[in-house]
Amino acid sequence: MSEVVFMGQTTAEQNTLFGNRNFMGGNDLVVYYVRSTVPGYNGCAAHPAGRPGCVVVRSASRWTLAHEFGHVLGLNHVSNNDRLMTGLGTFNITNPPPDLTAAESTTMRNSNLSTPL
Ligand SMILES: [Zn+2]
Repeated sequence: MSEVVFMGQTTAEQNTLFGNRNFMGGNDLVVYYVRSTVPGYNGCAAHPAGRPGCVVVRSASRWTLAHEFGHVLGLNHVSNNDRLMTGLGTFNITNPPPDLTAAESTTMRNSNLSTPL
């Protein structure tokens, strides 16, 4: 049960959920904790245009939120369970805390959703 959807289209239900952005700015990432998704994922980073954020299922691993934020900020899956962006399921991370590469960090910092420090 790993999450695979992050750039796909959103459903009407997702659009309604992501409409809940009280007091958030346009570039603020919002996380929605939910009981479950259909189909069953640990999280999902697909979001409507202009409403950045992600969904995390309450039973997800401790790494899922960071993993989904990684997607929202432009990262793709890798096939390495030592890394945060493993596509093999964050419950399978073998060497916590999971790693981000320098290139992944740069991608996230360069996202148009990131505020320069
Ligand atoms: Zn993922």
